[in-house]
Amino acid sequence: MIDMHVHLEFADYTFDWIDKFVDRAVAMNIDTLCLVEHTHQFKDFASMYTDIVKYSDFQYNWYYKKKLRDLTEYTDFIDEVRKRKYPIKLLFGLEVCYFEGMEKLIDEKIHSYNFDHIIGSVHWLDGFGFDLNRKAWENVDVDNAYRRHFEIMEKLIESELFDAVGHPDSIKIFGYTPSYDLIPTYNKIAGLMKKHGICAEQNGGVHMKHNEIELGLAPEFLKAVKENGVKIITASDAHRPEDVGRNIAELVKTI
Ligand SMILES: [Zn+2]
Ligand SMILES: [Zn+2]
Repeated sequence: MIDMHVHLEFADYTFDWIDKFVDRAVAMNIDTLCLVEHTHQFKDFASMYTDIVKYSDFQYNWYYKKKLRDLTEYTDFIDEVRKRKYPIKLLFGLEVCYFEGMEKLIDEKIHSYNFDHIIGSVHWLDGFGFDLNRKAWENVDVDNAYRRHFEIMEKLIESELFDAVGHPDSIKIFGYTPSYDLIPTYNKIAGLMKKHGICAEQNGGVHMKHNEIELGLAPEFLKAVKENGVKIITASDAHRPEDVGRNIAELVKTI
């Protein structure tokens, strides 16, 4: 089984830390594991986040509480890890926060190193970090948030910068649903994924954090993705070793 979206964050880059992820992958029958880092962890991408920190005190604190690193700190470490032997296929990549108009910077940075896998994710809607806390949704127009989310995703797909779309419907994370029918949107997005040759993640991250939310894509979205012949990859979205491979067996059954 494959887990294509696992975050290394919250630790220093050491071989011991990698071993913890690999050991858990082996225990969970994962034979291909892709470790990724968020772009918001690196100074190299800081210019993408200027509107984010202005949006609210909460987001300002969220962004700056992290220890921002140089991307080379990560890539130098990958170079060292790639020299070692592991019992599974170990890949390295980035989960890029996609922002419209930032394609040039993203293109330059993701091609500054030989990454195995680049995930493009919509996390921000015109400054609003929709997956960070429920309270931030209180004054948000839900229909507009959904429209913007999928408009931004269209641009993400059309940019052809990414191998996969991360958690394509994580906008549902706090249970807010739009008043309009999403099926035409699902069909449009799935068609674009096929046209531009990008994979769709079947990602268990939202369900792992909020188990009242369905596991993976909405059934109608998954149906559209399958009908369009889009390649689907399974992803736990683990942020710590003990969550590697979580829900993957169940997600595999759906694809
Ligand atoms: Zn994400
Ligand atoms: Zn992630």
